[in-house]
Amino acid sequence: MTPVDRESKKVNEILIALENLSKNWKIDPVVRDMHLGLRSDVKDYIIKVNQITYHIPYLPETSDFLKWDCFWPECHNCCDRQGRLPLTSKDVSVISKKLGYPNRSEFLKSETYVSTWESPSSTSKNDSQIITTLTMVNLKRKKNESEIDNGKPISCRFLDGCGSCEINSSKPGVCWLYPFFSWSQNENNRVSVHASYQLTGDCPGFSLTKNLEDIMPTLLNYSAIIYNYTMNVNTTLREGLARIDMA
Ligand code: SF4
Ligand code: SF4
Repeated sequence: MTPVDRESKKVNEILIALENLSKNWKIDPVVRDMHLGLRSDVKDYIIKVNQITYHIPYLPETSDFLKWDCFWPECHNCCDRQGRLPLTSKDVSVISKKLGYPNRSEFLKSETYVSTWESPSSTSKNDSQIITTLTMVNLKRKKNESEIDNGKPISCRFLDGCGSCEINSSKPGVCWLYPFFSWSQNENNRVSVHASYQLTGDCPGFSLTKNLEDIMPTLLNYSAIIYNYTMNVNTTLREGLARIDMA
Protein backbone atom coordinates (compact mmCIF):
# COMPACT_ATOMS: atom_id res chain seq x y z
CA MET A 1 0.00 0.00 0.00
CA THR A 2 1.39 3.44 -0.94
CA PRO A 3 1.66 6.16 1.74
CA VAL A 4 -1.24 8.03 0.00
CA ASP A 5 -3.47 4.91 0.02
CA ARG A 6 -2.54 4.29 3.65
CA GLU A 7 -3.45 7.84 4.63
CA SER A 8 -6.78 7.81 2.76
CA LYS A 9 -7.72 4.41 4.32
CA LYS A 10 -6.92 5.83 7.77
CA VAL A 11 -9.02 8.99 7.16
CA ASN A 12 -11.93 6.85 5.93
CA GLU A 13 -11.81 4.67 9.03
CA ILE A 14 -11.75 7.76 11.28
CA LEU A 15 -14.71 9.27 9.38
CA ILE A 16 -16.75 6.09 9.92
CA ALA A 17 -15.76 6.00 13.59
CA LEU A 18 -16.76 9.67 14.06
CA GLU A 19 -20.10 9.11 12.34
CA ASN A 20 -20.75 6.23 14.69
CA LEU A 21 -19.70 8.32 17.71
CA SER A 22 -21.87 11.30 16.67
CA LYS A 23 -25.01 9.14 17.03
CA ASN A 24 -24.65 9.31 20.81
CA TRP A 25 -22.20 12.10 21.56
CA LYS A 26 -21.72 15.74 20.62
CA ILE A 27 -18.30 16.16 19.06
CA ASP A 28 -16.72 19.63 19.02
CA PRO A 29 -16.07 20.47 15.31
CA VAL A 30 -12.48 21.53 16.08
CA VAL A 31 -11.84 18.24 17.90
CA ARG A 32 -13.44 16.38 14.99
CA ASP A 33 -11.03 18.08 12.57
CA MET A 34 -8.10 17.19 14.85
CA HIS A 35 -9.11 13.50 14.71
CA LEU A 36 -9.21 13.73 10.93
CA GLY A 37 -5.85 15.51 10.69
CA LEU A 38 -7.52 18.50 9.00
CA ARG A 39 -5.88 21.11 11.25
CA SER A 40 -2.46 22.07 9.94
CA ASP A 41 -1.99 24.43 12.89
CA VAL A 42 -1.79 21.68 15.53
CA LYS A 43 1.51 21.65 17.41
CA ASP A 44 2.89 19.18 19.91
CA TYR A 45 3.03 20.74 23.37
CA ILE A 46 5.83 18.78 25.05
CA ILE A 47 5.57 18.26 28.75
CA LYS A 48 7.51 15.81 30.89
CA VAL A 49 5.56 14.23 33.73
CA ASN A 50 7.53 11.74 35.83
CA GLN A 51 9.23 9.38 33.32
CA ILE A 52 6.97 10.25 30.38
CA THR A 53 7.46 12.92 27.73
CA TYR A 54 3.91 13.75 26.64
CA HIS A 55 3.09 15.25 23.23
CA ILE A 56 -0.19 17.08 23.81
CA PRO A 57 -1.92 18.47 20.70
CA TYR A 58 -2.05 22.26 21.05
CA LEU A 59 -3.55 25.08 18.94
CA PRO A 60 -1.23 28.08 19.47
CA GLU A 61 -3.52 30.67 17.88
CA THR A 62 -6.37 30.04 20.32
CA SER A 63 -4.18 28.63 23.14
CA ASP A 64 -6.22 25.44 23.27
CA PHE A 65 -4.91 22.13 24.58
CA LEU A 66 -6.57 18.81 23.77
CA LYS A 67 -7.90 17.31 26.97
CA TRP A 68 -9.28 13.84 27.62
CA ASP A 69 -11.80 12.59 30.18
CA CYS A 70 -13.30 9.12 30.34
CA PHE A 71 -17.12 8.96 30.28
CA TRP A 72 -17.37 5.37 31.47
CA PRO A 73 -19.88 3.89 32.48
CA GLU A 74 -22.04 6.03 30.15
CA CYS A 75 -19.58 5.14 27.37
CA HIS A 76 -17.75 1.91 26.51
CA ASN A 77 -17.11 2.62 22.87
CA CYS A 78 -13.42 1.64 23.03
CA CYS A 79 -14.44 -1.90 24.06
CA ASP A 80 -17.31 -1.96 21.53
CA ARG A 81 -15.04 -0.99 18.66
CA GLN A 82 -11.76 -2.68 19.50
CA GLY A 83 -9.41 -2.90 16.51
CA ARG A 84 -7.02 -5.44 18.05
CA LEU A 85 -5.66 -6.46 21.43
CA PRO A 86 -1.88 -6.94 21.14
CA LEU A 87 -0.38 -8.69 24.14
CA THR A 88 2.88 -8.21 25.96
CA SER A 89 4.56 -11.28 27.42
CA LYS A 90 3.37 -10.13 30.86
CA ASP A 91 -0.21 -9.99 29.50
CA VAL A 92 0.18 -13.55 28.22
CA SER A 93 1.15 -14.81 31.69
CA VAL A 94 -1.54 -12.80 33.53
CA ILE A 95 -4.45 -13.50 31.16
CA SER A 96 -3.64 -17.20 30.65
CA LYS A 97 -3.81 -17.63 34.43
CA LYS A 98 -7.03 -15.58 34.65
CA LEU A 99 -8.69 -17.73 31.98
CA GLY A 100 -7.63 -20.92 33.78
CA TYR A 101 -5.03 -22.25 31.33
CA PRO A 102 -2.45 -24.68 32.78
CA ASN A 103 0.34 -23.03 30.78
CA ARG A 104 1.11 -20.21 28.34
CA SER A 105 1.36 -22.48 25.27
CA GLU A 106 -2.21 -23.79 25.66
CA PHE A 107 -3.44 -20.23 26.07
CA LEU A 108 -1.47 -18.99 23.04
CA LYS A 109 -2.85 -21.85 20.92
CA SER A 110 -6.53 -21.33 21.84
CA GLU A 111 -6.98 -17.66 22.66
CA THR A 112 -4.60 -15.70 20.45
CA TYR A 113 -3.45 -15.14 16.87
CA VAL A 114 -0.45 -13.35 15.42
CA SER A 115 -0.97 -10.26 13.30
CA THR A 116 1.09 -7.61 11.58
CA TRP A 117 0.00 -4.02 11.06
CA GLU A 118 1.42 -0.65 10.24
CA SER A 119 1.29 2.04 12.84
CA PRO A 120 2.14 5.50 11.43
CA SER A 121 2.01 6.79 14.95
CA SER A 122 5.41 7.44 16.41
CA THR A 123 7.06 10.80 16.15
CA SER A 124 10.80 11.17 16.09
CA LYS A 125 12.82 13.92 17.76
CA ASN A 126 12.61 16.16 14.69
CA ASP A 127 8.85 15.60 14.37
CA SER A 128 9.06 13.48 11.21
CA GLN A 129 6.73 10.51 11.13
CA ILE A 130 8.07 6.99 11.49
CA ILE A 131 6.12 4.12 9.90
CA THR A 132 6.31 1.29 12.34
CA THR A 133 5.39 -2.27 11.35
CA LEU A 134 4.47 -4.32 14.37
CA THR A 135 4.02 -8.06 14.64
CA MET A 136 2.47 -9.18 17.90
CA VAL A 137 0.39 -11.90 19.49
CA ASN A 138 -3.22 -10.68 19.85
CA LEU A 139 -5.94 -11.74 22.25
CA LYS A 140 -9.04 -12.91 20.32
CA ARG A 141 -11.87 -10.42 20.78
CA LYS A 142 -14.36 -13.05 19.61
CA LYS A 143 -13.96 -16.80 19.99
CA ASN A 144 -13.32 -17.53 16.29
CA GLU A 145 -11.23 -14.44 15.54
CA SER A 146 -8.47 -14.81 12.96
CA GLU A 147 -6.01 -12.57 11.16
CA ILE A 148 -8.66 -11.42 8.64
CA ASP A 149 -10.33 -9.58 11.57
CA ASN A 150 -7.10 -7.75 12.40
CA GLY A 151 -7.87 -4.00 12.63
CA LYS A 152 -11.66 -4.39 12.18
CA PRO A 153 -13.71 -2.86 14.99
CA ILE A 154 -15.25 -5.72 16.98
CA SER A 155 -17.15 -5.65 20.25
CA CYS A 156 -14.86 -7.38 22.72
CA ARG A 157 -16.16 -10.68 24.15
CA PHE A 158 -15.06 -9.62 27.64
CA LEU A 159 -17.42 -6.63 27.66
CA ASP A 160 -20.41 -7.54 29.83
CA GLY A 161 -24.00 -6.29 29.54
CA CYS A 162 -23.32 -3.43 32.00
CA GLY A 163 -20.35 -2.03 30.04
CA SER A 164 -17.73 -3.54 32.38
CA CYS A 165 -14.74 -5.65 31.50
CA GLU A 166 -15.07 -9.23 32.78
CA ILE A 167 -11.29 -9.56 33.12
CA ASN A 168 -10.74 -5.98 34.31
CA SER A 169 -7.90 -6.56 36.78
CA SER A 170 -6.13 -8.80 34.22
CA LYS A 171 -7.05 -6.93 31.03
CA PRO A 172 -4.32 -6.37 28.41
CA GLY A 173 -1.85 -3.53 28.96
CA VAL A 174 -3.12 -1.88 25.80
CA CYS A 175 -6.56 -1.49 27.44
CA TRP A 176 -4.99 0.23 30.45
CA LEU A 177 -3.05 2.48 28.09
CA TYR A 178 -6.03 3.72 26.04
CA PRO A 179 -6.49 6.44 24.80
CA PHE A 180 -2.74 6.98 24.84
CA PHE A 181 -0.15 5.32 22.66
CA SER A 182 3.50 5.25 23.58
CA TRP A 183 6.90 4.69 22.07
CA SER A 184 10.45 4.60 23.34
CA GLN A 185 13.48 6.40 21.96
CA ASN A 186 17.16 6.12 22.67
CA GLU A 187 18.33 9.49 23.97
CA ASN A 188 21.99 9.75 24.98
CA ASN A 189 22.09 5.98 25.46
CA ARG A 190 19.07 6.04 27.77
CA VAL A 191 15.55 4.88 27.01
CA SER A 192 13.13 7.75 26.94
CA VAL A 193 9.39 7.05 26.86
CA HIS A 194 7.00 9.28 24.91
CA ALA A 195 3.21 9.29 24.69
CA SER A 196 0.36 11.03 22.93
CA TYR A 197 -3.35 10.49 22.35
CA GLN A 198 -4.75 7.96 19.87
CA LEU A 199 -7.02 10.11 17.71
CA THR A 200 -9.02 7.44 15.90
CA GLY A 201 -12.51 8.93 16.24
CA ASP A 202 -13.58 6.23 18.69
CA CYS A 203 -13.53 8.15 21.97
CA PRO A 204 -15.97 10.95 22.83
CA GLY A 205 -13.83 12.09 25.78
CA PHE A 206 -11.74 14.69 23.94
CA SER A 207 -12.38 18.40 24.39
CA LEU A 208 -10.45 21.67 24.35
CA THR A 209 -9.15 23.57 27.35
CA LYS A 210 -7.05 26.70 27.71
CA ASN A 211 -5.74 25.54 31.05
CA LEU A 212 -2.96 22.96 31.05
CA GLU A 213 -3.70 22.33 34.74
CA ASP A 214 -6.96 20.62 33.64
CA ILE A 215 -4.89 17.92 31.94
CA MET A 216 -2.27 17.39 34.64
CA PRO A 217 -4.18 14.90 36.86
CA THR A 218 -4.63 12.55 33.87
CA LEU A 219 -0.98 12.89 32.84
CA LEU A 220 0.09 12.14 36.41
CA ASN A 221 -2.29 9.16 36.71
CA TYR A 222 -1.14 7.65 33.43
CA SER A 223 2.62 8.14 33.69
CA ALA A 224 3.31 4.86 35.58
CA ILE A 225 0.82 2.93 33.39
CA ILE A 226 2.47 4.20 30.21
CA TYR A 227 6.00 3.62 31.47
CA ASN A 228 5.29 0.05 32.62
CA TYR A 229 3.42 -0.79 29.41
CA THR A 230 6.23 0.52 27.19
CA MET A 231 8.85 -1.38 29.19
CA ASN A 232 6.71 -4.54 28.93
CA VAL A 233 6.56 -4.11 25.14
CA ASN A 234 10.35 -3.75 25.05
CA THR A 235 10.72 -6.95 27.11
CA THR A 236 8.26 -8.71 24.76
CA LEU A 237 10.40 -7.64 21.79
CA ARG A 238 13.58 -8.90 23.47
CA GLU A 239 11.91 -12.23 24.25
CA GLY A 240 10.96 -12.64 20.58
CA LEU A 241 7.19 -12.64 21.21
CA ALA A 242 6.86 -9.48 19.07
CA ARG A 243 8.71 -7.76 16.26
CA ILE A 244 9.03 -4.14 15.27
CA ASP A 245 10.34 -2.72 11.97
CA MET A 246 10.76 0.97 11.33
CA ALA A 247 10.93 2.84 8.03
S1 SF4 B 1 -14.25 5.43 24.48
FE1 SF4 B 1 -13.20 6.99 25.68
S2 SF4 B 1 -14.77 7.85 27.04
FE2 SF4 B 1 -15.54 5.90 26.25
S3 SF4 B 1 -14.96 4.40 27.82
FE3 SF4 B 1 -13.36 4.40 26.25
S4 SF4 B 1 -11.83 5.86 27.00
FE4 SF4 B 1 -13.71 6.22 28.16
S1 SF4 C 1 -10.35 -6.77 27.42
FE1 SF4 C 1 -11.80 -5.60 28.65
S2 SF4 C 1 -11.04 -3.48 28.62
FE2 SF4 C 1 -10.04 -4.60 26.93
S3 SF4 C 1 -11.36 -4.27 25.16
FE3 SF4 C 1 -12.04 -6.16 26.09
S4 SF4 C 1 -13.69 -5.52 27.48
FE4 SF4 C 1 -12.55 -3.70 26.96
